[in-house]
Amino acid sequence: MKSNRYLLALLLTAAVTAFWFFGRPISTNQMGNSANALTSEILALGPRPPGSVALNQVRSLLSKELVANGWVVELQEFERDTSVGKIKFANLRARFQVKDQDPWQRKIDGLLCAHVDSKLFKDKVFHGADDAASACAALVVIAKHLAIHKPEQAAKLELVFFDGEEAFAENMTTLDGLYGSRHYANTWRTRNDKPKFGILLDMIGHKNLKIRIPTDSPKHLADLMFSIAEKQKVGSHYGIAAGTIMDDHVPLNLIGIPTLDIIGDFSRTRWWHTPGDNADIISADSLNISIGVTLGMLDELLSEK
Ligand SMILES: [Zn+2]
Repeated sequence: MKSNRYLLALLLTAAVTAFWFFGRPISTNQMGNSANALTSEILALGPRPPGSVALNQVRSLLSKELVANGWVVELQEFERDTSVGKIKFANLRARFQVKDQDPWQRKIDGLLCAHVDSKLFKDKVFHGADDAASACAALVVIAKHLAIHKPEQAAKLELVFFDGEEAFAENMTTLDGLYGSRHYANTWRTRNDKPKFGILLDMIGHKNLKIRIPTDSPKHLADLMFSIAEKQKVGSHYGIAAGTIMDDHVPLNLIGIPTLDIIGDFSRTRWWHTPGDNADIISADSLNISIGVTLGMLDELLSEK
């Protein structure tokens, strides 16, 4: 009897230990920490305006992380005349490698995007920590997670790190800004195998996370984001902006890829487009939330139905 009780206690301890190690739900906490660390790595390379050495280094860093996790990358290069001269831009694309398949020939269902450049300022050091190094880091962490836990979802996605989102002049115009996304969208314009949706992340790591999506967001994607956020009990961070927003989702929506801009509130803030947009305002917890909601949306959007 006594030995039986010991055995039972032993089995119970083993079961609890096993559950602790293997049975817990996948923690997005770790993902937030990883994204935070990668954001710092990006920022350590310095300001990264279009055409800069630092921007090339950032693209190499992101590529290295992606390739190490089973993704293949491609640079989509192009040149434009801008107010600061001729600039060489490059969008970084990534697709998941599936055995014996050319990933670039495969039909994909969704785009996951962020902009990788930081706005050029001649008179101040601008890091663009939340605008949008944090979003690029989140994309890489999501890509790693999918590669390990949901490779079937990874295979249905393309990741795009847009160059030249920022305008060279102070304010964006129809001709200055969104260089990368306009070029990228154009490559899909006449194709009939367009992805069904796009999700753009921008300024999603601020310690005071206040996502405010544009008023003209595709309704089904907006509804899905709000319902996932509610389900994950982070709905209080999600709302709607006062109006439309000029961002990389616009060219995609115009050519018929419904794309949701999950963007943090930047209006009337003191940090936006100032040296205050640095590592100090980024929070691993906020990145957790943004990553968790994005993964929840992908679960719905990419599930077989
Ligand atoms: Zn910006």
